This record gives sequence, structure tokens and C-alpha cells, in this order.
Amino acid sequence: MLPENLKFRVKTPPRAAASHYEGRPHNTIGAHAYGVNSKSVGICFEGDFNKEELTDNQEKAAIVLITLLSFAYPDAKLCRHCDLTTKKNCPGNNFPFERIREKVIKSIKEMRFSNSI
Ligand SMILES: [Zn+2]
Repeated sequence: MLPENLKFRVKTPPRAAASHYEGRPHNTIGAHAYGVNSKSVGICFEGDFNKEELTDNQEKAAIVLITLLSFAYPDAKLCRHCDLTTKKNCPGNNFPFERIREKVIKSIKEMRFSNSI
């Protein structure tokens, strides 16, 4: 059971349609990635993405959440747990990390454009 040691979790149906909830308060240090907890925000997706696929609703929720966080932390780098340590395989081989990254970049560009009008 992980909810309290991560800052955000993206739910899966039928538990939720397309939402996320906050774990630890946003202004506290998480316990999601050894060595970088004090300078990172952890996002956890419910599921085993070595066996399962991310749902469309999870992906949509992730894109919204990461897009919003990118405005709060404009210098942040988006990475997976496995990018930070060789001891972890998170979020799993089926997790569409590059597709989410591309959609977040597109979403950021669209938001910047819509805000400039
Ligand atoms: Zn992990």
C-alpha cells in the first residue's frame, strides 16, 4: 500500500473516471524516489504496468496533472523512477511515457497560446 508516501496518485476505473488525489501535502517532502525526494514531485499511477495498460482516463488525468505541475515547476524535468535508479523498473514496460511526454508538451503549448490571446 503506497498512497501516503507519494504526492499524487492517478486512479483507475472503476475507482474513479479520470482523476487524481493528493497524497502528502504539496509543500512537504515525499518519499517516492531515494535521493531526490526533497527536489521532486512524485506521481504514482495505480496499476502494474508490466502486466496492464494505462487506461485512457488515467492518461488524460496524467496529462492534465503534469501540464499543471509544469507551470508550477517550469524548470522541472519529467522522468520515470527507472531513470533515477537501476534498482527500479517503474512505471513498467507498458507505460506510455514518451506518448505522455509528447501530449504534455502539446498541452503546454496550447495553454500558452490560449493565454496569450
Ligand atoms: Zn517507482
